[in-house]
Amino acid sequence: MSVPPDLATLPKAEVHVHLEGTVRPTTLEELCNRTGLSVPRAFSDLPSFIAVFSCAWATMTTPGDYGRLVREYCEDAVPAGVRYAELELTTSGRPYDCLGEAVEAASRQRDIIVRFVAGNARDLPLEIAWMMLEAARDVPEVVGIGLGGPEEGFPPEPFAPVFAEARRQGLHSAPHAGEAAGAASIRSALDALAAERIQHGVRAVEDFALLAEIVERQVPLAVCPTSNLRLGVVSALDAHPLRRLWDAGALVSVHTDNPGFFGSDLLGEYAIAGGLLDLDRRGYARLAANSAAASFAPAALKAELLDAIHDWATKRG
Ligand SMILES: [Zn+2]
Repeated sequence: MSVPPDLATLPKAEVHVHLEGTVRPTTLEELCNRTGLSVPRAFSDLPSFIAVFSCAWATMTTPGDYGRLVREYCEDAVPAGVRYAELELTTSGRPYDCLGEAVEAASRQRDIIVRFVAGNARDLPLEIAWMMLEAARDVPEVVGIGLGGPEEGFPPEPFAPVFAEARRQGLHSAPHAGEAAGAASIRSALDALAAERIQHGVRAVEDFALLAEIVERQVPLAVCPTSNLRLGVVSALDAHPLRRLWDAGALVSVHTDNPGFFGSDLLGEYAIAGGLLDLDRRGYARLAANSAAASFAPAALKAELLDAIHDWATKRG
């Protein structure tokens, strides 16, 4: 099955991407030169990638940086057909209001709707997560709360009170799980954090009962195939469990995670999924419809996206 030549015009939602991880290599070089910091480029698993990501994060400290990240993400996302994006960002501990700046830059976009997910790291003190939640309070553009960082050895349970308070404030729960740790980590994310969407979740295939529940409840799995390959979650794309998840009836969609570091882009992720799943035109449309369903967009916006996706599917490619 070949990739539709007009795949870029298929309307999509991107719901698993880290704003700091979208930084273009050329932009990162500029930020490094400005700060005098260097960022290692070699990584092979989640812990080594987190070290790289943290160094890059440390270069983004000047007013203007977060606005630029949002603008450059949108410049890349719009031509790939992204109509709606939820960008996870981690602004706690910054010397100025990066979140406000990101929201302002997003509000100027005309061809894409950008919302944010308040990101938290499992290995940082809980106080930082509370600060992030406080920063997000009364910012309507922040629609969710996330949890990332080293998964193995850092179970989510300590973050349960932060997530409970976030949900009381109307935020949706979208933690990472089932990437560097197995099915038990996904179970904890569902139980302790009331996860409404799992970022990755690919290791749900390791537990039949868990996968059955995820399918039954249609908990979205926001999967990033190239990320899984680059971080050693899978040994080869051919070995990726996407097909097993899809065949089981899970609500899977594909995303870029940290495209600035993984050398990936969203159309490439769709093409990879197309190969793994033998997608025809309707199949690509279903994948995009899943991305809209996985989002925390309001119902009217989701319906609009689904209509546009349906129109694309019924067009001749
Ligand atoms: Zn991620």
